[in-house]
Amino acid sequence: MITLVTGAAGFLGSHLSARLLADGHEVVGLDNFHSGQQANIDWLSAHPRFRFVRHDVVTPYDIPCDLVCNLACPASPPHYQADPVYTSKIAFLGTLHALENAQRHKARLLQASTSEIYGDPLVHPQPESYQGNVNTLGPRACYDEGKRIGETLCADFTRLGRVDARLVRIFNTYGPRMRGDDGRVVTNFIAQALAGQALTIYGEGDQTRSFCYVDDLIEGIVRVIALPSNPGPINLGNPVEFTMLELAAEVQRLTGSQLPLVRHPLPVDDPKQRQPDITKARRLLGWEPKVPLAAGLARTIDYFRALGPR
Ligand code: NAD
Ligand code: UDP
Repeated sequence: MITLVTGAAGFLGSHLSARLLADGHEVVGLDNFHSGQQANIDWLSAHPRFRFVRHDVVTPYDIPCDLVCNLACPASPPHYQADPVYTSKIAFLGTLHALENAQRHKARLLQASTSEIYGDPLVHPQPESYQGNVNTLGPRACYDEGKRIGETLCADFTRLGRVDARLVRIFNTYGPRMRGDDGRVVTNFIAQALAGQALTIYGEGDQTRSFCYVDDLIEGIVRVIALPSNPGPINLGNPVEFTMLELAAEVQRLTGSQLPLVRHPLPVDDPKQRQPDITKARRLLGWEPKVPLAAGLARTIDYFRALGPR
């Protein structure tokens, strides 16, 4: 089984590649290092069944494979907002090219969609049937709307019988091999705590997110790929919800950081709450997250401690 993983140098792509290698796949990792890390590829390249292709998914490609896992796309708000037009191109053209490559080689496709397609949700928690509340004009729209058109392309390729394209809607996931400077809240808090800096709270800190440890997420993805038929979109995430103040307190407790928190303005269109309804994943995959926040944070902190000051 040859599996193409786009975004293999990224956080989730490197973990998924490692898991697929462990499961016996031949993995072709594709990336252009837009938001990924060379170190993730160096580590994977030590495996005899891993091959790396440096390529920008905005340009078509032809890579023989039996399965495409399409993860290439910056996921952190500062990254995807740095060049928003490029982000829209990655989300649209990158998904189109992944689907065309899958069709050409009669491969199944797994698309990394996101909870961001729900926008600032008016339904809580969010089931797959919720159609979302996205501002098409705001600074997050390049990513949110890009991921929405990505879902549309997958749904159309599937409906037309061109590709069996499976959609996972991933909620905030964290763990080792994230970039320490990627600007997402878990890495910001850990990097700040380990550097002896105050943790930065955006807004009042009462907005919520539900954080899934990477190993749990990857197990969910692997189970979606293995299902005998296409189940439609599936939420994958940890349904235990925390405020950013609670997350900050947990990171402080685990690192021994005692500095007072510092406030920054709340970013435009920052969703106020987010929690996956994982009823469908529980029913169809027999899956639910196992790693509690404190345990996952402790492993992530150990990873960043071992990297040392950067
Ligand atoms: P990441 O930024 O760590 O990884 C993305 C990878 O894609 C990087 O290695 C980057 O270099 C690569 N990439 C970006 N643009 C590219 C291009 N034009 N051509 C080739 N490669 C390109 O992000 P991540 O957290 O690993 O996210 C992976 C996928 O999962 C993304 O599609 C993201 O939207 C989705 N997702 C992640 C989360 C999360 O919490 N981590 C949540 C929802 C969805
Ligand atoms: N956030 C924060 N401090 C930070 C970085 C982020 O309080 O240093 C907040 C941010 O405003 C958001 C939440 O943490 O409400 C999650 O942000 P992240 O960028 O990790 O993910 P997303 O907003 O895409 O869910």
